[in-house]
Amino acid sequence: MLPHPLVGHLTARERLSQAVRLGKLPQVLLLTGPAGVGKQRLALWLAQLALCEQEGPEPCGACRPCRLVAGLSHPDVHWFVPIPRPKASDTDKQVEEAAQSIAAVLSERRAEPLYPAADGMASHSLASVRLLQREAALTAAEGGARIFILAEADRLVAQEASQEAANALLKLLEEPPAGSLFVLTTVEPRRLLPTMRSRAVPIRLGRLTDADVGGFLKAHVRPALSDRELDQRIALADGSIGLALRAGDEAGKAHLAAHQWLEAVLAGPGPSLERALKQTPWAARGEFTAMLDALAETLGEAARGTLGQPVRRKVPEALMRHRQPDPLLKAMDRVADAREAAWGNVNPQILLAVLGEELAEVL
Ligand SMILES: [Zn+2]
Repeated sequence: MLPHPLVGHLTARERLSQAVRLGKLPQVLLLTGPAGVGKQRLALWLAQLALCEQEGPEPCGACRPCRLVAGLSHPDVHWFVPIPRPKASDTDKQVEEAAQSIAAVLSERRAEPLYPAADGMASHSLASVRLLQREAALTAAEGGARIFILAEADRLVAQEASQEAANALLKLLEEPPAGSLFVLTTVEPRRLLPTMRSRAVPIRLGRLTDADVGGFLKAHVRPALSDRELDQRIALADGSIGLALRAGDEAGKAHLAAHQWLEAVLAGPGPSLERALKQTPWAARGEFTAMLDALAETLGEAARGTLGQPVRRKVPEALMRHRQPDPLLKAMDRVADAREAAWGNVNPQILLAVLGEELAEVL
């Protein structure tokens, strides 16, 4: 029933813990940092700390509030996760639908604490914000603090014919009700509305150490990984437990294959050609195209990096030497061509060998 343990972030923990002890915790916090390093997990830890019956630098984990928070069932801890946009046309029904969707996601997370990233289309719609408003207007069920976690706050949808959702939330953040604590999390603080950002005290979480990621994988991934798999996952994770976990699913495997292949290409035409030709025949066309998609995504991430935007997944070091996005965009073009050719009756090994030479030329 417990979510996975919190790993790392000792400085942030100390800082927050001291603030709680002194009664100086800001009412609106913004946890920022790379994907999968534990921002939402730290928010839950903070909820425990704020509600714990014991006094200490860390939540005791054993008292009733601590256990309720860990079980995601504390009535005063509201974890707003991005959800699909409610379909109902009536406002009240939309709010009801949002509440049900959020409850469904949380029940999944109760069952599977190592949850995957939220779907790309999931968001905080106006209905979610209305729900938040309603809950914020109530008094604490347990008499203590009330904690509102707004996960991936950059997914707040500010359209819907008005800025209503954003404005409603802004009002709450501007004057948080007494005894309430708002914890926003985001990978990209710059995508938050500036007015929202300016109301929150930022706390930046860095990447975890390889030792932390490795220790976590060893303790929690079942069946246990081989030493080789462990090393690969740690290398690909780049200090993010979330990425390390995702590297195990289908998309993750495609990314691992793309990463390794790209590194071979960047090492020079000799090894790349050899590697591409040695590539085992793909079990299914789908796996091959998934690898090409992962390849395009990796190049896209590197291009974002050249524009000074945060890179959301590990890209080969050699790609990051580019100062301009152009070569990377050219490379993406070649991959798109290969992706198209892959639908025809082409031998994947030959296709990869040709692509490898083309990429070596432009990168
Ligand atoms: Zn406790």
